[in-house]
Amino acid sequence: RLANDHLLSQLGENRKLQEALREQVTRDPLTLLFNRRYLDETLERELARAVREGYPVTVMMLDIDYFKRLNDTYGHLAGDEMLKATARTLEGKARLEDIICRFGGEEFAAVLPKMSLETASIRAEAWRAGIAENVVHFGSFQLQTTISIGVATFPGDGKTRDELIDAADHALYRAKENGRNRIEFATAISAL
Ligand code: GH3
Ligand code: MG
Ligand code: MG
Repeated sequence: RLANDHLLSQLGENRKLQEALREQVTRDPLTLLFNRRYLDETLERELARAVREGYPVTVMMLDIDYFKRLNDTYGHLAGDEMLKATARTLEGKARLEDIICRFGGEEFAAVLPKMSLETASIRAEAWRAGIAENVVHFGSFQLQTTISIGVATFPGDGKTRDELIDAADHALYRAKENGRNRIEFATAISAL
């Protein structure tokens, strides 16, 4: 009985360790958002399910505007605070089933299952506006930033993970070219 209890508690410990390890390989340590590795795995799985059940999936690429300038002016630590604050704003306006990742540097990606292009445009605008309004206190400074967003939706804008990320990335590039702090869609707006 004692040996049994001991074994059970050890199993519990193992499970906790495994979960902690799993968190470490799927999360970005700075923002605590999911990382790119997790996005890659999950987007594949989400698309497979979307095909089976016949629902749309929206993918967004989001990139902070002029982030280098913020780092250069206020320092790397200020930049880090802005990254964390941006992550919290994105999470704050997301559903439980949405997957928000730090894609790398000051770039984020969102996978939004069962979200049509129309609903996605409302969400993108909520994120854009929320980030533009957010004030980050850093020492005696009050920092603000904006974000540019590229939106692509499965199946219209791409059938595979890579196609969708590419389509969202191209739209993001257009958002930058057209002045930043804005949203561009892989699909022409007239199709909405
Ligand atoms: P754009 O509006 O075109 O997106 O310009 P940008 O300055 O935001 O983009 P750019 O790619 O020139 O610069 C991104 C900067 O992000 C450069 C890099 O030093 C900074 N960066 C990447 N990762 C981190 C990080 O973890 N913390 C901080 N503080 N800065 C980071
Ligand atoms: Mg940037
Ligand atoms: Mg970037």
